[in-house]
Amino acid sequence: MPFCLTLRWPLRRLFAATSFILLVACAEKPTAADAEPLQTLPAAPVPSLPQVNDDLTIQPAQSFGEWIATFRGSALGAGITPAVFDSAFAGITPDMSVIKADRSQPEFTRPVWEYLDGALSPVRVRKGQALLAQNSALLSSIEQRYGVDREALVAVWGMESNFGQFQGDKSVIRSLATLAYEGRRPAFAQAQLLAALQIIQHGDIQPGEMLGSWAGAMGQTQFIPTTYNTYAVDFDGDGRRDIWNDSADALASTANYLQSSGWQRGQPWGLEVVLPTAFDYAQADGTIRKTVSEWLQMGIRLPAGTVLPNGSAPLSAALLLPAGYRGPAFLVLDNFRAILKYNNSSSYGLAVSLLSQRFNGAGLISGEWPKDDLPLSRSERIELQTQLSAKGYDAGNADGIIGANTRKAIRGAQQKLGWPADGYPNHKLLDSLRNR
Ligand code: CA
Repeated sequence: MPFCLTLRWPLRRLFAATSFILLVACAEKPTAADAEPLQTLPAAPVPSLPQVNDDLTIQPAQSFGEWIATFRGSALGAGITPAVFDSAFAGITPDMSVIKADRSQPEFTRPVWEYLDGALSPVRVRKGQALLAQNSALLSSIEQRYGVDREALVAVWGMESNFGQFQGDKSVIRSLATLAYEGRRPAFAQAQLLAALQIIQHGDIQPGEMLGSWAGAMGQTQFIPTTYNTYAVDFDGDGRRDIWNDSADALASTANYLQSSGWQRGQPWGLEVVLPTAFDYAQADGTIRKTVSEWLQMGIRLPAGTVLPNGSAPLSAALLLPAGYRGPAFLVLDNFRAILKYNNSSSYGLAVSLLSQRFNGAGLISGEWPKDDLPLSRSERIELQTQLSAKGYDAGNADGIIGANTRKAIRGAQQKLGWPADGYPNHKLLDSLRNR
C-alpha cells in the first residue's frame, strides 16, 4: 500500500497528514503500476554509509551489524524465533537505492488530468475487461463474501500492480531493515519489519520470495506488512495468504480491506456534477458533508445526459474539485472514502473509481480540465505558504504539503481578493501574493 512519508529532521519540517482534496507529493508518488516516472530535479548525491554527515542526513549511531544485533533482541522479545530471524537476515546489507528513494522529494507534480490519462489508459481498461471475464466465478464469490463490486477490485488491482505484473522486486526484509536503520521514519519501518518477520514465521512466504517496493509494499495488492497482517486472507484455502502469486488471495484481501474501510455494498463511488455560477466554492472541503439531495438543492446539477445513480439521493457526499473551481466537480460518497484508506490521494481515488466504470464503457468526464493552470512545483508551494503566512494567512509549516491549514489560508487570501475561494493553489494566486 503506498503511503506518505514523514520527515523527522527539523530543517526539513514535518509533513502533516495528507489532505483530502489536494494533490500532494505522495499523491503523485508513482506506484509500480505507473510505467512513466515523474519528472524530478537531479537527485542529491547519496553518500556511502556511514560517512553521512550533513544537515539533511543522519549519522547512524551504530553500524548496520550492531543495529541488526539490537533489533534481533527486540524481535525475539516480540516472539520471533531465532531461526526465523537469522534466516530472514542472512546476508542482508543496507540497500542504497532504498535510501535514495526515501530521500527524494519530487519537485514537479503531475497535473491530475495527466495522472488520470496514464491510470485510465485504453490498454489498462482492455486488460481489466479481459481479467473480469476470465475471473468471473472467483469475483462472484468474493463479491458475495465481502460486498465489494468486482470492477472496483479489478481497478485497485490495475492501479496497484498493473494486475500483478509490477509488484516490485526488492527484498522486503532488506528494504525495511535499511529504512529502520537509516530512513526518515525508523520507528515506522521497524514496526513494518517486525510485521514482515511475523508473516514469514506464520509460513505465508519464504524470506527470499518476499518481494516488494522500496517502501515495503508487497505483492499484487501492494500491502505494507502491518496491513497484510490485519487484512490479507487465504481465500483459496491452501493455508497461505499469498498476495504475490495467488490472484484469488490478492483480490479477496483487497475486498476485505475495502469492506473494513467502510465500503457499502451496491453503492456508487460518487458522481460528476456541474456547479452553478456564483457557487460558494468553500463548500468543496472534505470535511463538509451533505446528502446528495441537499447538494442538488443548492443548485448543483448533473451533466447533460446523465442520471442520478439509483438510491444515491439520501447518501452522504462531499464535493471534490480536483483542479479547483475551473475544473470538473464530483460528489464523492462512502465508497470513495474507502478507496482513500488504500491511498489517501483524491487523484488515486478518482483513478480507481473512474477505471472501475471504464470497464463497463462509462466513467468519462464531461467537465473540462483547466490545462492552462499547471500545478505548483514543490518550491512554489513552499513559497506560497511562506507568502500566505507573511501576509497574515496562517498556512502552517511551509513544507510544500497543501493540508487543511494551507487550504484555509488560500481561501482567506482568495476571499480578500474577491476571487472564488476554492482553496486551490495556483500560479495566479502566487503571482498576486508576490506582487503585493
Ligand atoms: Ca491461499
